[in-house]
Amino acid sequence: MEKALVGAPDFIRKVMMPTALGQGNALPVSAFTRNGDMMTGTTHFYKRGIAVSVPTWQADTCIQCMQCAIVCPHAVIRPYLATEEEIKDSPIKFLDSKNPTAAKYGKFKFAIQASPLDCTGCGVCVKVCPTAAKGTLAMHNIEKVEHAEYNKQIFLDDHVSYKADGFSLDDREKAIAFRMPHFEFHGACAGCGETAYITQFTRLFGQKMIIANATGCSSIYGFSFPYSPYNTDKNGHGPAWANSLFEDNAEFGYGMVVAISQRRDKVKEIAARVAKNAECPEELKKAIANWLERAHEIEGSEITGNILRAMINQQTCDCPDIKFLQAQENQELLRKPVMVIQGGDGWAYDIGFGGLDHIMASGLDFTIMVIDTEVYSNTGGQKSKATPLGAVARFAAAGKRTDKKDIATIAMSYTNAYVASINMGATVVSEPTLILTNVYVIIALENQITVFMLIITYSINSAVHFFFTSSFK
Ligand code: SF4
Ligand code: SF4
Repeated sequence: MEKALVGAPDFIRKVMMPTALGQGNALPVSAFTRNGDMMTGTTHFYKRGIAVSVPTWQADTCIQCMQCAIVCPHAVIRPYLATEEEIKDSPIKFLDSKNPTAAKYGKFKFAIQASPLDCTGCGVCVKVCPTAAKGTLAMHNIEKVEHAEYNKQIFLDDHVSYKADGFSLDDREKAIAFRMPHFEFHGACAGCGETAYITQFTRLFGQKMIIANATGCSSIYGFSFPYSPYNTDKNGHGPAWANSLFEDNAEFGYGMVVAISQRRDKVKEIAARVAKNAECPEELKKAIANWLERAHEIEGSEITGNILRAMINQQTCDCPDIKFLQAQENQELLRKPVMVIQGGDGWAYDIGFGGLDHIMASGLDFTIMVIDTEVYSNTGGQKSKATPLGAVARFAAAGKRTDKKDIATIAMSYTNAYVASINMGATVVSEPTLILTNVYVIIALENQITVFMLIITYSINSAVHFFFTSSFK
């Protein structure tokens, strides 16, 4: 705990920790911002230490399948790619990495490690490990292993970088588990069936995500003051997150989509005007043309936007258009964000459905993610329109008397929408090696699909539906 707080930001020391220790009422009003915003990534510092037992990794029998890291609901156990230089004096035994995608970027060593003070002790990682019977992953009482495991985690945090964060868009999907999760150590129930999906989504696009989150489980574990599991990378890039009501979250997110779209249109308009200016250097004109051509692409706008940003910042003239493009709030828009509107089935099927239906018909470019547990989980288990015929929920003991609403078909009735479904739990059970294929939101990536929906059903009796309405390429 003390090590985690070394160098921690003021907010962590002066607001989060006093709140965590039950002293929040003593905080002065001046400790809070006027508009209610807050730094993200605070759960990284929390170190709750709630697990009775935690997993330990034994290198020799590991087959490097990465299933443990994919299913961990809390992003606690992770695979690491390290260089020889990084792991000098390592307290962890590393293997040679077998990942063929990583091999394109260098020769790496491989290890798996769980963070014991962030673990919930749910044991999901051990359950899915195909070689657990050989002792690759096993749960141990935290009192016996905490010191050694914590020291290993600290070593990795301090010495090993996330190599896969630099992989190309096409390669990141094949090495998804090696990328930094931008959603970690949240307060969802131990073994939660929803959160692993959000983790994978942030591994793919976390640095570029802007999320509008409906009220429900995903907003409670997504942000309960002062705990934010959405974090940033070393460059300060990570998801921006905000919450609205069940009733209006679709519209709330849609407003963000429209606002970002209009602001980007303005940047494009000014950039195009600069390119027509006779005094504009030819190199800058070419950089603007390249960016304009790829401004609608997630990765293309970043590559061409970075070049354009560097070139704009070299200009020393007093032209107001150049000044406009040099402003940080406009430079941030050179990179196309991944706009995500997400929530549970209570929001999407029931309370917020009117808005959801309305924005699906808008034809704009965004992603809708519906996390469907087939009951109102956050209230303890009321039936919802997502509950299947005959299913018994805690507050529907006689069973659901009507069919589950087919929201996928409704979404597919809009021809601009791409609808997909996945099932991480069933895939793990039936065909472990295919797990990544199913997690692939990236099926949409490769086909430049406009709208994307995935339905996920865990084998632990919860279901998750995701709709995506965005072009990723
Ligand atoms: S026990 Fe649960 S929380 Fe801990 S590392 Fe395994 S899957 Fe993650
Ligand atoms: S699930 Fe087991 S075999 Fe696969 S990477 Fe994790 S520890 Fe290794």
